[in-house]
Amino acid sequence: MINLSAFAGRKIAVMGLGKTGLSTVLSLKNAGAHVYAWDDNQASRDYAETLGIVCTDLTGITKETIDFLVWSPGIAHTHPEPHPVALRARAEGIKMISDVDILSMVQADADYIGVTGTNGKSTTTALIGHTLKEFRPTQVGGNIGIPVLDLEPMGAEGTYVLEMSSYQTELSQSFQPVGVVFLNITPDHLYRHGGLQGYIDAKKQIFSNPPKRERKPIAVICIDTEDCFDIAEELEDDGVWSVVPVSTQKRLDKGAYVEEGKLYEMREEGAILIADLNGFEHLRGRHNHENIACAYTIIRQVYGIEPQRIIEAMMSFGGLAHRQYLAATINSVQYINDSKATNADATARALACFNEIHWILGGQPKEGGLNGLDEYMKRVQHAYLIGEAAPQFAEWLNARGVPFTQCGTLDVAVMAAHQNAQNNGAGVVLLSPACASWDQFKSFEHRGDLFVDLVTTLARG
Ligand code: ADP
Repeated sequence: MINLSAFAGRKIAVMGLGKTGLSTVLSLKNAGAHVYAWDDNQASRDYAETLGIVCTDLTGITKETIDFLVWSPGIAHTHPEPHPVALRARAEGIKMISDVDILSMVQADADYIGVTGTNGKSTTTALIGHTLKEFRPTQVGGNIGIPVLDLEPMGAEGTYVLEMSSYQTELSQSFQPVGVVFLNITPDHLYRHGGLQGYIDAKKQIFSNPPKRERKPIAVICIDTEDCFDIAEELEDDGVWSVVPVSTQKRLDKGAYVEEGKLYEMREEGAILIADLNGFEHLRGRHNHENIACAYTIIRQVYGIEPQRIIEAMMSFGGLAHRQYLAATINSVQYINDSKATNADATARALACFNEIHWILGGQPKEGGLNGLDEYMKRVQHAYLIGEAAPQFAEWLNARGVPFTQCGTLDVAVMAAHQNAQNNGAGVVLLSPACASWDQFKSFEHRGDLFVDLVTTLARG
């Protein structure tokens, strides 16, 4: 845990008592700060009280009673409606900061790498962390599910690799990354940011505090989405950041690009082949090539490590659970857990990577259902339907001539898919539900864990 004794005796309000807020309250209390905590949700307050946290209504805070307010990223403060506590803080001139700011203040000598974008943040953050720790002390945290104040102190020798959602980038004021990876922008969380421009502006905040060091900070930006292309141009014109573009769609004359699965780095003498990314069996598909290319480039640019040493360290990355994760191989049939694919767009990325697929899908359907997946149906050998979406999906599959079985629950689906795939002696059993999990599970993790348990039992015979 990070030592926050610098805050002993300070009067600090904390809004939000989810994972991040609880970690903040406990770390500050431990250090002897006077903490006033609140969450609008009664269940969260009840849980916090079991941990000895006394909850205090924050709508009456004043500049005299509170030094600053730590806001949790999960709580909306501006859109769709201004939050009364945020309004009060602004009216009183009380500074609103994030837990990342607190870490940045007390671990000011450490290096920070921030990873943002709409998709691929967790994978890229984990991949950078996995690779960089071969070369220097490195810890991973933030939106990836590890509150940053639960990390360990490292000082100047270490690097914190932090996944930053738009909710975190818009709050942070003291975060001064030596490197940023900006992956992509597609419309998301628009209600929280008052529209697409608000979302983009929130994400761009990650560049608002360049560190004051001899070398310019590095911005690795995948320029394949239009908004990211524009951001790269804007930053380049500003001249404060050293912009390094990455693409998986076209050759570049600067930075790095991926062509036919091969990663090239541009140098003065021309394009240098760095690695064949098809060899990364835990990071399949073009979207993962983007993640690998960006992770490679930030490490290479910030630390100047030899390309082959970076690639070698990257190769042992086992992938992130629930994202096209290879759970087992039984008699040449692969069993893949892609439970994180909670919509058709995410499922499309998995279907694009395999053939002879025994596809387990269903759950709580999203708007649009399976729209957009037609082109992948030739890869599907058989579908196995579970959950609430089953009748709707059955109709969709029927209309496209895809054979399917109504299974109801995941255990029945896994068994049926296993038997068919083993009878064929080839192919892939893929859990990629294109649905939320809440009709039958607590979370996508819960759903994926059950899949892995079932498959592990089958693998043991
Ligand atoms: P995030 O943390 O941004 O939600 P993850 O790394 O957890 O992203 O990946 C979630 C899903 O998003 C993956 O299962 C995959 O379907 C998709 N994905 C991953 N990387 C990318 C990318 N670079 N571009 C588009 N989609 C991606």
